[in-house]
Amino acid sequence: NKKVIFKDYVSGFPKESNMVVTIDENLKLKVTDDSKNILVKNHYLSCDPYMRLLMKNQSTEIFDPYTPGAISYGFRVSKVIDSRNPELKEGDLFWGITGWEEYSLLKSSEGLFKIHHTDIPLSYYTRILGNFLKLWFRMPGLTAYGGFYEVCAPKKGEYVFVSAASGAVGQLVGQFAKLMGCYVVGSAGTQDKVELLKNKFGFDDAFNYKEEPDLNAAVKRYFPEGIDIYFENIGGKMLDAVLLNMRVRGRIAVCGMISQYNCDQPEGVHNLMSIVYKRVRIEGFAVADYYPQYSKFLDFILPYIREGKIKYVEDIVEGLENGPTALIGLFNGRNVGKQVVVVASQ
Ligand code: NDP
Repeated sequence: NKKVIFKDYVSGFPKESNMVVTIDENLKLKVTDDSKNILVKNHYLSCDPYMRLLMKNQSTEIFDPYTPGAISYGFRVSKVIDSRNPELKEGDLFWGITGWEEYSLLKSSEGLFKIHHTDIPLSYYTRILGNFLKLWFRMPGLTAYGGFYEVCAPKKGEYVFVSAASGAVGQLVGQFAKLMGCYVVGSAGTQDKVELLKNKFGFDDAFNYKEEPDLNAAVKRYFPEGIDIYFENIGGKMLDAVLLNMRVRGRIAVCGMISQYNCDQPEGVHNLMSIVYKRVRIEGFAVADYYPQYSKFLDFILPYIREGKIKYVEDIVEGLENGPTALIGLFNGRNVGKQVVVVASQ
């Protein structure tokens, strides 16, 4: 059983050596009759930016950190191999939290969600169709849905800006905004991602923030009349530039601030007075807030996926041993779309 162990708390940019891949040759995983154990094979792992926050020795209202020396974990799509649990039988597919390992012996079915819609690619359950389980389990689809429709309260014709726009969450937010009849611009870190935003996801425009020496000037160029809605994924200097370019009564949905996750001391934001001048509403949220809306979300998104009206790009990496590199790639923009690791294909 191959597994990934989290070594110790990390400061600064994470490295592959912060995680160790080990192989337990002799491990015999077996369910026993007197238990509710489930033996599962893990197929797809989701790499998510919040996992970097679990590498800090810091608990928050949303999650607790990883334990040094213990197995890493995160969201997975898995298949039941053997079970004494009435909730899940052999052959069932489910999504939920398990360790970064090939096989897991789970003590109960609590927090595992059986997959019923198998006519769409299974790996989708690591992303658009996953959701938040307990308070530390997040997934992009429900995040984009709750964050955009609830927090941003969009109206037809509004000007929407999305950062990290080609990523797991951003690409969906942009497409939701187009469905709503908004004008949408995204920022991303390479020219290829910029093309993807315009040509695949239907953004009205996009720019490479790494090629803009003056972010304020760049944002102003794309929004000469200002921004109604900013979907914040990165924080830092981009947030400062956006604050200067918000319209009166604009909304900022703070989904995440990935540019700050590797900083021991977060960068300061300087243009906060714009919040007053422009009467801007800034609201953070966690996907857990929208967990009760999961079936509404499924009813909303499944027809769009089946009809091909919502596109989704994923970045697939093969092999559990490549998981640490894939995870770190989120922080240098190596991933194009949702980062998924295939441990074993179906
Ligand atoms: P992505 O798929 O977008 O991957 C991360 C991307 O962020 C990278 O590809 C890179 O794209 C960009 N990035 C990395 N470092 C920086 C940096 N220093 N400055 C600017 N951009 C950077 O990830 P997700 O879509 O899964 O997550 C997006 C955001 O949403 C994150 O902040 C995450 O924490 C947050 N989130 C919040 C949730 C919640 O419940 N509130 C739930 C899920 C996600 P590029 O090449 O464009 O730079």
